[in-house]
Formats: sequence, C-alpha cells, structure tokens
Amino acid sequence: VNAARATQALGHLRQAGGRWLVENAFRDAWALHQNTEWCPQEIVRDRQWEWTRALLQDVYNGNLFYKRRLDEAGWPALDREAFNCVRTTSQNEIAIHAAKIGSQRGAEVRRSSGGSAGSRVAIPLDRETYGWYMAGTWRGFGWWGVGPADPVVLLLGHRAGNWRTTLTARAKDWLVNWRRIPVGDRFDAEAVEIAHRIECYAPAILYGYPSAVHRVAGVLRDKGWRPRGRLRVIVLTGEPVYAFQRKAIQEAFGCPVAEEYGCGELGCMAFECPHGTLHATVENVFLQIVRPSNGWSGEEGLILATQLRNKMFPLIRYETGDLGIFKTRQCPCGRGLPALQVCGRASDHLIASGSGAAIPARTKLEPFFSLLPERLQGRVRVAHRTIGTVHLEVERGSASSAELARVVDVGKDVFHPDWHVRVVTVERFPRIMSGKLPYFLPLRDGLNSPPEDGAIIKTPGSALTPPI
Ligand SMILES: [Zn+2]
Repeated sequence: VNAARATQALGHLRQAGGRWLVENAFRDAWALHQNTEWCPQEIVRDRQWEWTRALLQDVYNGNLFYKRRLDEAGWPALDREAFNCVRTTSQNEIAIHAAKIGSQRGAEVRRSSGGSAGSRVAIPLDRETYGWYMAGTWRGFGWWGVGPADPVVLLLGHRAGNWRTTLTARAKDWLVNWRRIPVGDRFDAEAVEIAHRIECYAPAILYGYPSAVHRVAGVLRDKGWRPRGRLRVIVLTGEPVYAFQRKAIQEAFGCPVAEEYGCGELGCMAFECPHGTLHATVENVFLQIVRPSNGWSGEEGLILATQLRNKMFPLIRYETGDLGIFKTRQCPCGRGLPALQVCGRASDHLIASGSGAAIPARTKLEPFFSLLPERLQGRVRVAHRTIGTVHLEVERGSASSAELARVVDVGKDVFHPDWHVRVVTVERFPRIMSGKLPYFLPLRDGLNSPPEDGAIIKTPGSALTPPI
C-alpha cells in the first residue's frame, strides 16, 4: 500500500512539475503539434504562413528593429514570396542590437545564441515559448513510442547559471523523470561508470551529444553488453551526427537512433521519424533555404529560421549558419511536415592551396572517419591548420604504429593528393565548455585558434545548449 501511495504521490508531483514547467501554454502547443502533423502538405503550408503572418503583425506593432525591415519589404502587402525579400538577421546583428530586438525582462529561461567568439547573446524565453520548445521535442519522442512520463537520460553539457537556477532546473528534471548526466571534461575518463549508471536507470530514451553517446557505446561494445530494458530510441542532438557514430551507437545499444535538429535560441527545428526523415517542426519555426550568392555550385543552401513563438526576442529570417536541402519526396510515414536534410555548417570548409577552392568539409570527413578502423573512430579528429594542410590528431595510446600509418594512408586517399596530411598524437581531446567535442577544427582567419564555445556554434544545431 505504501509503495502504491508513494507512486501516486510521485505521479502528482510529476504532474505539478509539468505544470510548473510549461503552464497551460504547453497544452495548446501540444494539441496543435498533434493535430498539424497529419494534415496534408498544402494545409500545413497555409497554416504555417498564417502563424508567420500573426507573428509578423505582432512584431511590426512593437519592434522598431524589425518594423523597418518589414516596411522595406512592403508590409502589410507581404505574401510568402515577398517574405523572401525581408533582410536576413545575422548572429552578429543579434549581439549588436540585442537591446533593440528584445527585452530581457520577465525571462524565465535564457539560451545563448551563436556568433563568432565574443558576440554571443542570451536569448530570453518566457515559459510559454519554452512550452513550444518542449512540445516539438516531446512529439518527436512520441514518434518512437515514448510518452512524456517515460524516463529519459540526458547526456548534455553542464548548465550555466547560478546555484538557484541550477537547483530549480535539477528539480524540474526530477519532476519530469529525467536524469541529467553532465558531459564535462571528465566525462570520457568516466565513461565506464557512466555506462553503468545508464544501465541501472534503464531509460526509455537516451538523449545527448553524439560524441558522448558514442563514447558510452564504445564501453558497451568492449564489455559485450547485450541490450535489455526498455530503451526505445537514442536521440542525438547538439553536434553533427557522423555516420560512424550512428552505426556504432545503433549496434552497441541494439536500438534505433534518431536525430534532432535544434538549438538553444530556436528550439526544436526538426526531428527524425522512424522512416529516417528529418521533419520540420512547423509549429515552432518557419524554415527557409536560400541560395548563397557568389557562384555557389552545391545543391544545398543556407537555412534561415523564423521563430514563431518567442515574442520577447523575435528572430526573423535568422541565419542559423547551417546548410540544408528540402526534400520534395513525401515521407512514407504520411506526415505532412516538410522533410529537411541538414548538410553541415556553412563555415566548415577545407581550402586547398593553389586553386584556393573551398570544399565543404563534410564531404571529406564522412568518408575519412568511416574508413578508419572501428577502434579508432572517435579517437581521431581533423584540424585544418593552414591552407592545403590537415593534421589528423590521434589520442595518445589509442593506436599502434601500424594503425597510425593506416590513418595517414586513409587521410591521403580521402583528402586531395596535393594536400599536406600529417598525423599528430595529442594527449586527449578536451571537451569545450558546453561539453561538446568537435571532430573538425576549421581554419579561422588564417589561424587555427583553439576551439571556444562561441566558435563551435559552427556545427549543425549547435548553439550552446540543445533545445531542452
Ligand atoms: Zn516521416
């Protein structure tokens, strides 16, 4: 009887926690998310344009920064086509004009935006907006048969903030049945113990950075662990997901992997369905893809996002810094939500000497990592030191000399034959402040400065904090 009462009390607390977290706004957001996904594509499109118009109207009335831009584009006679002419908003503009764009007053949560180092700004959210963030992610969980009360383990960075916000956030996690295992500098050294904690907790979802989940997968593989319990899906977020990570994680945990595309300043932007399609979260963000100027030959374009719910700090045609493509094929799952493919950061390039041509880094990184011996995957990263040069950094103690020679061979095969390819042994890969571990260090202004969080915004879906 006591146990039953305890369970009941816990249930009430969790409900209270859910309410505390997102109040009534979540209910509306949730209902809309449930309803929209099954509408035909044209209906989804029309509805989303209505939400966008409503947001623009609101912003026009109360925001001088955007009012000017909307006036330039001919507001109020602004249809979808004309919306394409509204000036885009860059991450640096957000930092410079933060005081004009939004107000920090009454913010319940703050999420950092991107921008080059030093130009970050905290984007304030009210609880209502946070409710919209959560609805998108939770709908995605639902696609994999997981409900809001199911246990979740989060492998994400430490929370920023003072002791009070940290405590409340911890209480909130507990109330909604989440366990957060912070990914910090000691995470990789403690992966064995962390794998054990995850096993004991038996979550329905493991939600975290691909680099962190991949480390745990390595431990499980070495232990010969067999999947058991109720793990239904592993959701990867906050960093680019490489094919080698996806494969190793799927095999080690014996469960499917789904990708979420989202970031701290915009919330959930897309979530992968069980058919492998990344569906846009149309209720939360309006995504557009524009062709970059200057003779771009690639099929992909720059992803712009208009946050539809955050009225405290509107983001209109905001440059995410990611490249993407809209897929025209209808997904077999039947959802009317647009299908997106994210192709990496626009700024992640390799620059060859001689021609000076820029190659999207992802096109080389994927084959390079996949061709490495499995044991070395996740232990090797690529640093683009100078034009025409790549250093293949290998963690000390992870490879024999024969294996190091193999790394060079793979590097020479994959990168251009004229490239200067070198293996460098490093002590270990330090995680950056947000707990992320970049596997590509791009060339920056001719210098390869050590990665900082402000710079690492340049990985897909990668603001400092993932949506939740
Ligand atoms: Zn689908």
